[in-house]
Amino acid sequence: MSEAPRSASGSASGESENVAATSREAFAAWVDDAMEGRTFAQVLIRRLETGYEMRHTDDLDAENLETSDDPRLAREISRLTEAGEHRPLKSAPNLRRGWILRVADAREMAVAMNYLYPAAVVHWHLEREGKLEITSYRENAARQSGIYKRVQRLSDEGVHNAAQACCEDAVCLKRTLWDVDGETPLAMDRGNGEIPCPEPCSLFVSFARRVRLFEREERERDAAGLTPSEREDLASLVAARASGKMKMAREAEFEEPLNERRLRYRLLTLAPKLRPGE
Ligand code: SF4
Repeated sequence: MSEAPRSASGSASGESENVAATSREAFAAWVDDAMEGRTFAQVLIRRLETGYEMRHTDDLDAENLETSDDPRLAREISRLTEAGEHRPLKSAPNLRRGWILRVADAREMAVAMNYLYPAAVVHWHLEREGKLEITSYRENAARQSGIYKRVQRLSDEGVHNAAQACCEDAVCLKRTLWDVDGETPLAMDRGNGEIPCPEPCSLFVSFARRVRLFEREERERDAAGLTPSEREDLASLVAARASGKMKMAREAEFEEPLNERRLRYRLLTLAPKLRPGE
């Protein structure tokens, strides 16, 4: 079995069911209160005479949408991007369009939302109640083992840069609530979305591991001041641009030079060195 970063442990099942039920009711009441509907990440939810309707926010006026009354279809919808690629992070702004779900009641709406944005309704509710537990980066890193243990050594600056590259609204629609540790707030734009992020997710931990590998290259800078991976990324960018085939790597392929988050990290850490003063 392949190794994966560790995320938060669950609570007892009876307690979870209660929280799920109260969250579902609060969420439905919040939707009921808005005639024009509510936007939750990339989904527009509206109260109907009977039940609820969900569609992509960009499909407000679209026609010929695939309509279903099965909330479980949300699982399929959330699985792949428009281009047919796997979506490892459901809160990334790449939910595909072209569908409408019209479901019978609040319970079915919660089922669909839970496929589209796992745990988001519960986190949304707990935050409003002041009960959402926040886990800092350092606390999360302390739980990691195996190949992910090295994220414990990531510098504070590395955490800030990784969070800007991995968590801002351009790549994740959750609102980042966690900090580096109890004394060190994250230096980034945390976003304004409805879904809170209480703890670094497994995708972030995997990215943090890659950034730690970059940090370890510091002593290998060449005469031009570049580390081996910086050199590799620049060469790959030039080659891709020159060939006219700029194919980006998949979302979680951080070992690939043309990965969006990796390039966002380079923009923060390498571009200022290449173009000082800009
Ligand atoms: S850790 Fe970052 S990338 Fe992961 S869900 Fe939270 S905000 Fe999004």
